[in-house]
Amino acid sequence: MTDRPTAVVTGASSGIGAATARALAKAGFHVVLGARRTDRCAEIAAEIDGTAVRLDVTDSESVSAFAAAVPDCRLLVNNAGGAKGMEPVAEADEENWRWMFETNVIGTLRVTQALLPALIASGDGHIITVTSIAALEPYDNGAGYTGAKHAQAMLHRTLRGELLGQPVRLTEVLPGLVETEFSLVRFDGDAERAAGVYRGIEALTPDDVADVVAFAATRPSNVNIDQIVLKPRNQASATRMNREG
Ligand code: NAP
Repeated sequence: MTDRPTAVVTGASSGIGAATARALAKAGFHVVLGARRTDRCAEIAAEIDGTAVRLDVTDSESVSAFAAAVPDCRLLVNNAGGAKGMEPVAEADEENWRWMFETNVIGTLRVTQALLPALIASGDGHIITVTSIAALEPYDNGAGYTGAKHAQAMLHRTLRGELLGQPVRLTEVLPGLVETEFSLVRFDGDAERAAGVYRGIEALTPDDVADVVAFAATRPSNVNIDQIVLKPRNQASATRMNREG
């Protein structure tokens, strides 16, 4: 048993989710780390006195079992997600689109539905969803990802209205370029292509994003930070960047 409030972080096995788990533990939460790579979550859980529970957001049974293991929940960070592929609409790969919508959109829907009763019952719940600047505008060759992130953002922003009158805050975090395994996943393990995404630009670190998540989570409960957009200084939008060297 712990008297710390419980925070759930999905996609906590790497990148932004792993950094967020650490930041929230530092802020006083008992963190439940969910992802498919449980070995990685278990390592971080041991480090921060948290709990690792297997979670595949694309599998409704896995989400139900995960939620059953989290009877109390004060904070949910919907972070699991990512991109697959980058091609014009004319050549779009349907399987990649299905992966992106299943993971970012339906996954967020499933986990949110499963934990919402506990968040409301806590009397002071909070849902933080990591969408992206891809939820702000289109970019060429990115329709699968921008489409999924827009849909995920709409789910989250709609809840802001639907939950009025309930004790649940809603914060959307929209990062620009963050150096994580994101591009490695997007380009199917092609490390050289993934490295090219970050060439000549000092990207955000996962800790930079975790900082703002922890900031939003630690405001007084009457304060709802609706949206936080953060980008590297050398990035003006998804397509406009100043690359050096
Ligand atoms: P990352 O290092 O690839 O992390 C993605 C996380 O999502 C991993 O922990 C992964 O865990 C988890 N995940 C993927 N599929 C899952 C599934 N089916 N069930 C449960 N967990 C799953 O990338 P990241 O950059 O930290 O991405 C985190 C979030 O930030 C994503 O939603 C991404 O779209 C968003 N974002 C990233 C950037 C960027 O530039 N990096 C910018 C804006 C927004 P397992 O593989 O172990 O399951």
